[in-house]
Amino acid sequence: MEKIPFVTKEQVEEIVKKYPTPFHIYDEKGIRENARKLKQAFSWNKGFKEYFAVKATPNPSIIKILHEEGCGTDCSSMAELVLSDKLGIRGNDIMFSSNDTPDEEFAFADKIGATINLDDITHIPFVKKACGKIPKRISCRFNPGGVFTLGESKEGFQVMDNPGDAKYGMTKDQLLEAYATLKNEGAEEFGMHAFLASNTISNDYYPALAKILFSLAVEIKEKTGVQLSFINLSGGVGIAYSPDKEPNDILKIGEGVKKVYEEVLVPAGMGDVEIYTELGRFMLAPYGHLITKAIHEKHTYKEYIGVDACASNLMRPAIYGAYHHITVLGKENAPLDHVYDVTGSLCENCDKFAVDRKLPEIEIGDYLAIHDTGAHGFAMGYNYNGRLWSAELLLREDGEVTLIRRAQTIDDYFATLEGFWDVV
Ligand SMILES: *Cc1c(COP(=O)(O)O)cnc(C)c1O
Repeated sequence: MEKIPFVTKEQVEEIVKKYPTPFHIYDEKGIRENARKLKQAFSWNKGFKEYFAVKATPNPSIIKILHEEGCGTDCSSMAELVLSDKLGIRGNDIMFSSNDTPDEEFAFADKIGATINLDDITHIPFVKKACGKIPKRISCRFNPGGVFTLGESKEGFQVMDNPGDAKYGMTKDQLLEAYATLKNEGAEEFGMHAFLASNTISNDYYPALAKILFSLAVEIKEKTGVQLSFINLSGGVGIAYSPDKEPNDILKIGEGVKKVYEEVLVPAGMGDVEIYTELGRFMLAPYGHLITKAIHEKHTYKEYIGVDACASNLMRPAIYGAYHHITVLGKENAPLDHVYDVTGSLCENCDKFAVDRKLPEIEIGDYLAIHDTGAHGFAMGYNYNGRLWSAELLLREDGEVTLIRRAQTIDDYFATLEGFWDVV
């Protein structure tokens, strides 16, 4: 599907008068409309709730918007729990889906009433010690092992991932034992969670996952007498990063899960199980751009355009070779008659936003919109090479632009160096 930026060259020229490039900008309208569509897709389930994966876009202004649309938070660290708590998002509005968790994080999660999702069976005594009790409401993370595949095509499987190599979750036997133990220890409300594949471009992933989890829920009820209150399908619904891919249809995905729900859970007398999601990428990625300016062109063995952003602002291309679409603002309709590597400034050759990309002719001073950076974009930033974090801006529904995180300064960069100013 054609990728059209949600800001124009004229808008960016206005914005940079106040906030210089590079910056991440988010589209409030797009975020809200998408969140409403997700809610609509699962409106057939009475207790449905999306717990936004905070790690994808840990900015309170964004999370507040999602909370207004009925979303809770999925946290995995102390900082994410604190962020949620400060926004007044507490209790059953938080899922704490972490792994390798320090005890003080379990204790704090329990204190603010978050639903703790246990990554391992050994975490039962660990949590009991950390919290002084077994929480009344608790969830367990399942890992079926092996290889998860979906929809074979000529080029191979449409979705393929290796749960068997993943560090997360419990085996089926451990899961059954965990529920029995938790029940004995006084837990009263139970949930199950699994995350089997990332960035799936398929309307079949959630229904296939649902089938596995719903069938297991019936088995858990039969074998342990534990009736689950909720099943968390977690994250993994992807987005179409490149224009040749068809985006997921969340309404179809919701329908697919409903069908399995009616086939498996309803006949087993489990028609009141609440369905949760923990989406990050799907909720935010398309509604963020990294806006950067062309500052150099270089002609050696290849044609290079150097921009003022780098991998420390957006790491995915550097570490995964991920495709992020690029629009040269103001040249939306120009012919793609040049081939460039678009690079950042890090002393790492992987610091390229695009390799051999067909683009219109780029001139110094042109603004580039790098698409789909709203999730796992700013969030993965780092300070390698002394490069600083950019600002984050929010394009409001009324067209106003608000600064929701200022750019890091050199002073911020040095702020944690004890005694630095005495040394120099
Ligand atoms: C990363 C993560 C998510 C969100 O994943 P997306 O691919 O962004 O949807 C949800 N739950 C857990 C436990 C995660 O680690």
